[in-house]
Amino acid sequence: MARFNVDQGTIEGGEQVVRRLADLEGVFAERTAYNEALRKGNPVVYTVSSLQGTSGDGELHCGLGTIMPGRVGREFHLTRGHIHAYRPAAEYYIGLRGNGIMLLEQENGEGTEWCELLPDRLVHVPGNTAHRTVNTGDEPLVYLGIYPATAGHDYAAIGQRNFRSVVIATAQGPRVMDRARYLEELLEH
Ligand code: ZN
Repeated sequence: MARFNVDQGTIEGGEQVVRRLADLEGVFAERTAYNEALRKGNPVVYTVSSLQGTSGDGELHCGLGTIMPGRVGREFHLTRGHIHAYRPAAEYYIGLRGNGIMLLEQENGEGTEWCELLPDRLVHVPGNTAHRTVNTGDEPLVYLGIYPATAGHDYAAIGQRNFRSVVIATAQGPRVMDRARYLEELLEH
């Protein structure tokens, strides 16, 4: 048994990793907006508290993620995203607070699937699927991820090419769009 705290983003007995804006170089689509935001400060973008005390086949780990509200340009705050080092490993995400979107992407596939992450949603991330979480609301987005202890996290595979989709703010609300097309639009305006 372990207690977790949705307001503090912590799990009893867990270790917390803090990712600040400066740690997320190359993650956001708008480089100019990223550099401008960094000049103003280096806020916490997200934290993950992980419970990884057990290991071996059949064991489970879990992480409590908290993404602070905010944007870089029009793009909402997000996690770096990863694919599991052990590719067949799946994961469940359970929304606890706030409004978010998850981007799910096949390693060698076309396009990105996405789904909402809300306090009443259980999202299944299949194996061989890169996943990133985005806070589209104006309060912290808090969720639990439960995954095989053997999964591991591969950040490099997704870091080299980034996700194919971005989640941006529009007058009509959050919108998922193709990253390349979004960058083209920015150049046109
Ligand atoms: Zn994962």
